[in-house]
Parts: sequence; structure tokens; C-alpha cells
Amino acid sequence: MSANSGVDRYVAAARETMARRQADWKQMKRARFDTCAVHGLYTMGEALNSNQGSIIEPIYMSTSQAYRDSDEMEAALSYQIPTWCYSRIANPSMYYFENTLALLETYGAEIEASCVATSSGMSAILAATDSFLAVDPGDPAAPRNFVSTCQVYGGTFQQFSARRAQEQGIDCRWVIDSNNMDEWESKIDRNTRFVYGELPSNPGQAFFDLKKVIDIAHSHGVPVIIDNTVGTPALMRPLTLGADVVIQSVTKTLTSSGMGIAGAVIARKNLVSNFASDEMKADYAMYLKALPNRDFGQNLSPMNAILSLSEMRTLRSKVDLFSRNTQQVAEFLQGNAMVSEVGYLGLESHPLHELASRYLYLVDSEHDAQYGQKVNRYGHLLSFNVSGGVDNARRAFDALQRIWRATDLGRIKSVATIPAISTHSQQGEEGRQMAAIPGNMIRLCVGGEHVDDVIADLEQALDAVHGKVSVPVPSEFSYGGASGSTLAQPGE
Ligand SMILES: *Cc1c(COP(=O)(O)O)cnc(C)c1O
Repeated sequence: MSANSGVDRYVAAARETMARRQADWKQMKRARFDTCAVHGLYTMGEALNSNQGSIIEPIYMSTSQAYRDSDEMEAALSYQIPTWCYSRIANPSMYYFENTLALLETYGAEIEASCVATSSGMSAILAATDSFLAVDPGDPAAPRNFVSTCQVYGGTFQQFSARRAQEQGIDCRWVIDSNNMDEWESKIDRNTRFVYGELPSNPGQAFFDLKKVIDIAHSHGVPVIIDNTVGTPALMRPLTLGADVVIQSVTKTLTSSGMGIAGAVIARKNLVSNFASDEMKADYAMYLKALPNRDFGQNLSPMNAILSLSEMRTLRSKVDLFSRNTQQVAEFLQGNAMVSEVGYLGLESHPLHELASRYLYLVDSEHDAQYGQKVNRYGHLLSFNVSGGVDNARRAFDALQRIWRATDLGRIKSVATIPAISTHSQQGEEGRQMAAIPGNMIRLCVGGEHVDDVIADLEQALDAVHGKVSVPVPSEFSYGGASGSTLAQPGE
């Protein structure tokens, strides 16, 4: 504490603010998921005291906050009082977004967690893992390793294998069969900094017994980091099951409109780690915000924070709708002769269906008049393999007319990609084989269209593989204006 009594005055006043926010958090912890998603920590008090009564959270594009005097500046910049000092570190718009997400990821459990927003999902993974991988000052030459499922998003695969392993010499130990607990156990040792998993995985729908993996990791004093992008907190909340850190590509289902790139790290307070300092363990997300992220600068823009926040308000209903649509699409694909395999955890025939059903529930379905009981939902990502190999898969893919061809997922609009030539191209044939991503696999993320129209598009596209219907030639589409032939619009 400062010897300057002027600074102390501000610190004392800030205690009141912090107590009020703590009380707001406690109160929201008693509210249902949808209420947390709609309001977060933006209370009437916050609105009336500091935002002109606006019912919607403010978008403060300002880079920095002004201080009343040097004492307040000193208190703020030494982090003794809550502050928006500089938007690379903190900002009111980011604050409301971060706390809403922390509420959603901890929903249903009496755990304390906090959240730091980042510029993208990849920067969230970088931030979440980097501090755990720091060189041990007491033993700088000690080997460092981490253990991860090999079925991860392509960008994650590259970050771990190319950047961490090849460039930085940190041992990345892939778990090939994530349901083999002996494999996890055998890869963890005293130099393991963290265990990383993604479930359900993108695109392969891998899934593992998360609670068992957490128990194994914790028995070695190793923290567990989970990418919860595909499930979202509407279906699964790993922190409430004992995981230490969750990362989100907020870009995806959380911001289904596709209006921006964003990410977040949500971490439980007092997490497990043999290597982390006490300060890191106490409140990891706030540690990242105040120190490493301040210094590395992977902050989220306030505009994107509020766009994402706005989308998250309806998360539960959207994930329910998307999941129901996807279930029907998966069942359709399973019955189609042109499809050799469908990867969707919601299908009873999927080998991991039973395991996934123990984890993936629509949050609050038991409190919903429509359901009145816990119902399983499996999200809106699926994959399917087209019979006859790569060429057939490309033909079907090229014939899609309603479903967009794009490397994206989580959208309100249905989107498909061929992972081997896009999201997972960089990891090479060997990496794809390890992660079970064949060249004839199409990844499909089903959106909010009427499901009959999505199925009709898939049906005609799969028929087109054998030329049952004519594939539209590009001249039928306009690339410049309203619908019509490009030939009729020279120069566009
Ligand atoms: C897209 C994605 C990421 C990376 O997120 P960006 O926001 O694109 O940086 C990480 N994990 C999963 C599962 C993803 O789908």
C-alpha cells in the first residue's frame, strides 16, 4: 500500500465499487442462464450511475481514461483500483463482455472465475498456454512439455506443432486416442506444464471422458485447458467439471452473425499448477490481463466486444435450434447412399454417443416449459465422408447452392468446407491421418435456415455427384449486383 494518503483515499473508495460488483456477481449467480446472458453485470445501477441510463452496454471506443489528479493516476496504474487506464488492458465494453462470458462458463456451479477477452481464438490459446510454458528461472535448462489431444482445430495444431515444438523446442505430446486414459497418464510427467483438449473436436467430433482426464492431470498437479468453442457454455461448462481454463473462439457460435473475430480465456480462481506463481494461480485471467496480455497486446476491440455480447444474449435458444436442425441433417445424411460416414455425436450409431450424452445437455432445459427435463443437444458441427473418394466429395461440395462454401463455422447461415484443403491443410497428410481427417470429408455447420431447405440443398448436391441434376455453371450467378447473368452485366 502506498504511503501517499491521497492515493489511499482512492483505494478506499474503490473498495466500495469492488464490493458492489462482487454483490452484483453474487446476485447474478442466482439467476438463470438466459438472464445471465441477457444482463451480465450491466445492472441498472451501472447504467444510471455511469452510462446516462442507457439500457444497452456502452461501446467506449476511447483509447484511455482520464484521471482527476496524480493520486488517482498512481492508484490506477499500480492496479490498486479498478480502472480503464488504456484500452489495450481494460475498457468498459470489454468488461461487460468478459463478465457475461465468465457468468455463462461458470453457470450452475459455485465457482469463482474471471475472463480476459482477446483479439481472436488463436490469441486466446496463445495467452492461455504461454505463461504455463515459461522457462523455470530456478532451472532454465529443464525440459518442458505439454500434452494435447491431436484432434484439435487446424490452427491449434499448427500453433502447437510448428510454433511451440519446431520453433521453440517445447515438447508437444499428442494423445492419439483420447479415450485411452493410460495414454494420457503415460504422457504426463513432472515437466508437463498443462494438458489441453478440445471437445467435441473440430471437425472430427472426437470426444473424451473429461472428468477422468481432469482427475489424472490434477493428480500430477497439472492444469487442464479446454477449448469449448464447439460446445459453447449452452451445452457444456468444463470449468464446472473441474477444468482450470477454458478458451473460446468467440468468433464462432458465440457470435453467430459472423461480424468479427474475437476470443476469450476464462479461468477458475485458485487453479492447479506445479509451475505457476501464487499470483497466477489465484486469478489467472486477471493476471493475463494485467501483465502478459498488457505486454503482448492481443486485446479485443470494444466494438467487437459489444457485437459479441449482443449475440451471446440468445445463445441458449440459438444452440437449441441449431442442434435440432443438425440432428435432422445428420439423420438425413446417414440414410443417403452417397455418404459413407457421418460424424455427429447426436447419432445413436456414433461410437461416442453414449459418452457425449453424459456431458452435452441444453442448459436449463429442465427449467424450460417446452422440455421440463434435461435434454441432450449436440451442437451444430458435423462431418460426413462422400463415397467414392476425394473427387466425389469435391463434386458434391461444388454443387451446393444454399450452403456457403467457406472456412467458417458457428454461423447463423449454413457453411461447409473440405478440411483437408482448407482448415486442416497445413498440418499435412500425416497430421490429418493422425487426427482422422480424410480428403473426402466435408465439414458442415448447420445454421438457422429451415432445416428442410438445408436438406434439399444437400440432397441435390449429392445427386449431382452422378450427374442426376445439372450443376449450375458460374455464368448463372451474378458477381456484382442483383441476381441475373453476369453476361448481361458487362464490366461487373
Ligand atoms: C476457429 C477456432 C479457433 C480459432 O479461433 P479464431 O477466432 O479463428 O482465431 C479455435 N478453436 C476452435 C475449435 C475453432 O473452431
